Amino acid sequence: MRVSVDLARCDRNGLCVMAAPEVFQLDSGGLRFIEEPDEELRPDVEDAVASCPAGAIALLDITTPPASASGHA
Ligand code: SF4
Repeated sequence: MRVSVDLARCDRNGLCVMAAPEVFQLDSGGLRFIEEPDEELRPDVEDAVASCPAGAIALLDITTPPASASGHA
């Protein structure tokens, strides 16, 4: 999964940090987050998405193609 945050909408209230502290962090530079967190953190990230009053967090499903998927002949 991939996490995206619209930092222009983020008001730094820290609710996502409380929901998913392993993914989101607030410091003097603002909000920081892991763009591709472990799948096991999905429930926490979903809680963060739901808790964000600004609607700034997006959770995107990404699929990683298998290493043997090269189609060049
Ligand atoms: S919950 Fe939303 S508005 Fe609050 S710090 Fe996180 S991304 Fe920003």
